[in-house]
Amino acid sequence: MATMTQLIEELWFLKRDIVSDDYDRALARLAEEIPMTIHKVPSGTPVWTWTVPEKWTCHEAYLETLDGERILDYADHPLHVVSYSLPFEGEVSHEELIEYLHVHPKLLDAIPFVFKYYQRDWGLCCTRDLRHQLSEARYRVVIRAEFSPGELKIGEVLVKGEVDECFVLAAHLDHPAMVNDDLSGVVVGLDAMRALMEGPKPHFSYRLLLFPETIGSVAYLSQHEKLIPKMHGGLFLEMLGNDAPHALQTSFLPESQADRALTAALQGLAPGAYVGPFRSIIDNDERQFNAPGVRVTMLSLSRVEKPETPESRFSPYPEYHSSKDTPDIVSQKRLEASRDLVLGLLQAFDRNRYVVNYFKGEVFASDYPGIWVDYKEDAEGHKRRFEIMDRCDGTRTPADIAHELDLSFEAVWDVVEILLGHELVSLSDVPAPSDPHQ
Ligand SMILES: [Zn+2]
Repeated sequence: MATMTQLIEELWFLKRDIVSDDYDRALARLAEEIPMTIHKVPSGTPVWTWTVPEKWTCHEAYLETLDGERILDYADHPLHVVSYSLPFEGEVSHEELIEYLHVHPKLLDAIPFVFKYYQRDWGLCCTRDLRHQLSEARYRVVIRAEFSPGELKIGEVLVKGEVDECFVLAAHLDHPAMVNDDLSGVVVGLDAMRALMEGPKPHFSYRLLLFPETIGSVAYLSQHEKLIPKMHGGLFLEMLGNDAPHALQTSFLPESQADRALTAALQGLAPGAYVGPFRSIIDNDERQFNAPGVRVTMLSLSRVEKPETPESRFSPYPEYHSSKDTPDIVSQKRLEASRDLVLGLLQAFDRNRYVVNYFKGEVFASDYPGIWVDYKEDAEGHKRRFEIMDRCDGTRTPADIAHELDLSFEAVWDVVEILLGHELVSLSDVPAPSDPHQ
């Protein structure tokens, strides 16, 4: 079994364009690590308002002077060619070349990641430094790219729980020669699923979906419409290995149980982390899950500094979408911390069911060890204990109680667990009000 960083080392430099041989290789390699179903959707298939693109293969590409001096070569770095570039061969003027030669908006010595999946144009990419040095009047461009019918591939890992209602983890496997975006999310998701498989059977079922960004979610969801009502929450995993605090972005419906459970759990699990509303931290596949007609409450977890302006969320870390997004910027330790956080959030989701009271009236604490908190020693704790128990009435989940009392999920769960131990309460998937007036 490979560690997260070993998998990154093996897979990161592959040319993982959205429908491509290298993407397929990466997915096949991951399928050796964990039982996985691979769904295939042929190019040209309509998926809701989208269409699955053709497979893109770049056989060879370079830029050279008319004397044959090679200036850049696709063989050296996959980012030298715009992903899904049209083929092109010919002489171009310096002026024309500059129009098609993309550079990073900020970094001088990084090759940018540029993609034109739907615009149908050709293009090359290089560092600002290199572009600055170009002084010839004319250049020769060769891009031997091919479009052919292929299959978009989606990897699905399932851990079956006691019920079919499920929680979805998702990450995108595409992006040639990049790591934090989003191979980091892929390996964190995979490692979290490995841990779930080894642990006790969860209540809910858990699915991990690995796909090419955006089109992969649309393709999966449109082909699994019957499953959508069973998806009771989700978490998109992205940018989880770099050196920045964890950020949890809520879903389109921030009052949902998934939102409440995960945000309340975060408080106790990652004190340095912060929470932000939908579309405020990152923009990714969680958009497709939250969209009209789908409305799966998918949050997203990433490592990113608090965005200062609405635009800054489009460049969430300095090396983003560039040749600097390498294994050097992620560490096994930070990936493990992300995986542990994901597992903590999932545990809260799994425990978050309606707390139904078997007791009536206040519990006679002296007969049930662990319940009593002495008000003479801890007045606040005493009050809180009863505030939590007052709310165990079949209409609230631990997350609801945590939100009402501004407590962490863990703080509420500690009390629910004592009550469960004394068989004073049970957990129910649906509300079961015990108020005789209802
Ligand atoms: Zn990206």
